[in-house]
Formats: sequence, C-alpha cells, structure tokens
Amino acid sequence: MRFYQATRFLFPRNFQFRMFSICFGAVHLPIIVFCVSELVLARWDWRLFAALLVATLVGTVTAIVALRGLLAPVAHATDLLQSLQRGEPVPPVPTGGDDLVGALLASVARASAETHARVERLADAAEKDVLTGLRNRRGFMDAIAPVLRDDRNSVVAVLDLDHFKAVNDRHGHDEGDRVLVEFAKRLQTELRRSDLPARWGGEEFAILLPDTALDEATEIVERLRASLHRDEIGHRGGDALTFSCGLAVVRDYASLKSAMLRADSALYDAKRSGRDRVRSVA
Ligand code: GH3
Ligand code: MG
Ligand code: MG
Repeated sequence: MRFYQATRFLFPRNFQFRMFSICFGAVHLPIIVFCVSELVLARWDWRLFAALLVATLVGTVTAIVALRGLLAPVAHATDLLQSLQRGEPVPPVPTGGDDLVGALLASVARASAETHARVERLADAAEKDVLTGLRNRRGFMDAIAPVLRDDRNSVVAVLDLDHFKAVNDRHGHDEGDRVLVEFAKRLQTELRRSDLPARWGGEEFAILLPDTALDEATEIVERLRASLHRDEIGHRGGDALTFSCGLAVVRDYASLKSAMLRADSALYDAKRSGRDRVRSVA
C-alpha cells in the first residue's frame, strides 16, 4: 500500500494511466542511460541508438497493450461492484484463473450473489405476513398497483373472521394463530391463481379479484364461505369458523381507497345482518 500511496500524485484519478506512466519510465531507462553515457564519453553511436529507440518504442506499445488487457478484469470487477452498490442487477461475473484476479472475480461473484439474495429476502420479509405467509398490507398495495394500472374492472373484497375473539378466549391464542394460518391456506386453495389475497391486519383479510365482474367475485367468495361449512377449520367443538365479507368494484388505483371504504361498509352491513354472509356494492 505504501508504494500505491506514494505514487498517488501521478494521475490521482486514473490508476491505469499511473501504471502506464511508471512502465513508460521503466521501458525508457536503457535509452536514457545510453544517451547520458554517450554524452559523457563525448561520442554518439547512431546505429546502437536507432536499435535502442526501436526496441523502446516496441517495448512501450507492447507494455501498454498488455497492461491494458491485464487490468481489464479489475476494471470490470469495479464496474460490477458499482452496479451492485446502485442496486442494479449484476450480470454474470466472468471466471478468472488461480491467481489474484481470479480470486478477486470469485469474491465479486460471491458478494453479488449474497447481496442479491439478502436484498430479495429483506424485500420479501417487508411484504409478507410472518404468521400466515400471505402478503401484508404493503405487499398487497405493491402487488395490486400494476394490476389496477391497466384500468380493468376488478373487485376488492374485505373479509373479517366472525367472533374471532371467542376463538382466542376459549381455545387460547396459539389455537387462534393456527386457525389464522389454516384460513390463509384455505384462501389460497379456494381462490383463483390470479386473485391477490393479503392479511390486512389481525383477523381481517383483503383480496383483489382482477378483471372480475361483481357477480363472479361474489360467487368466488361464496364458494370460499361454503368450503368452510363443508370442511371446517379446526375441531373446536361446534364453533365452526365463519367470516363476513364486503365486496366493491374498483376501476383503477386512484379509486382503490374509496372502493375499500365501500367494501368496508358492505362488510359492516354483513356483520349487522347476522355475520357469515357476503354483501356487495357496485
Ligand atoms: P366480529 O365478528 O365482530 O368481527 O368479532 P371478533 O371477535 O372477530 O372481532 P374483534 O375485533 O372483537 O376481535 C378480533 C380478535 O382477533 C381480537 C384479537 O385478539 C384477535 N386477533 C387479532 N390478531 C390476532 C393474531 O394474530 N392471532 C390471534 N390468535 N388472534 C388475533
Ligand atoms: Mg372479526
Ligand atoms: Mg376485525
């Protein structure tokens, strides 16, 4: 590091030029010594000078081309690390030999793979509900944004488990958690692949049914409701798990908030009407 620091005055912002200038000096040393000694001895051998000049020029060009080629993997590794730092996708890192550059490229490849995997894990964790594995509120908003940008008629559903406090009170919080996990699984099996379910919070869930008419969405949620009657979640001595649901049409991302409010009031209508039912508003 000391030599590197000491030579920083030579092209402080360009490492390649610094190496080239040092090599340039080294390659010219024989011809400089020749010229000085010839001058001191007061003579001049033109043939030897010409041979030395040609050799110096060929040596300089060869050294610059070779150094440029040898430094290319280092420049490439630097570019890759800078893309990684900017959060851009890193292209496949070329492999080197069993030398210093090979070790550098292997380290860059490892660092980029690990950083990419860590970023993916963190992004995934930030958008996922830990208990159920469904999207959380943020994941839901991120996932539906591109779907609603297409201006298609979609339906948003807000679902709330009925008397869930009683499940916790009678069977304990752990059993409550297990029921939430089971319910999330049921959502995934009963809904279509294109539907986007999420845990909105507590025992409340939101679903976006993209490109779906209100009637069709009601049928899908009714099918889910019927599945809970047919195949109960948990064996909790007669307390069959049910939910109430409000549905509303959503046309684009800008109208999502008002659609959620309408779905929410439809949900409260379902609760007031006796629970275990689906209500919808256009
Ligand atoms: P309603 O039919 O009116 O919705 O009645 P409810 O009992 O479901 O509603 P309430 O809002 O009174 O209670 C919701 C309960 O959900 C209370 C809370 O302890 C429980 N809950 C929320 N999140 C979780 C959770 O992550 N795990 C468990 N086990 N319970 C939860
Ligand atoms: Mg509830
Ligand atoms: Mg609730």
